[in-house]
Amino acid sequence: MNQTASTPHPDPDVIILCGACGGENIRKDAYAEWNAELQQWELSAIFDHTVCDDCGSENSAIEKVVE
Ligand SMILES: [Zn+2]
Repeated sequence: MNQTASTPHPDPDVIILCGACGGENIRKDAYAEWNAELQQWELSAIFDHTVCDDCGSENSAIEKVVE
């Protein structure tokens, strides 16, 4: 998982957790568009709305920096 060994990532890595239950199964709303050249779906927009797959809590996702 170190594809850019020569240029360190400027920001700390984070994980996304549910603020209600602490689970990591957070889903985010997004649009995907068909890329005919690559023959695959590509994300075109990612929205703020999140939902927890574990407890169903909406918009409770929090970022936690990975040490
Ligand atoms: Zn949850």
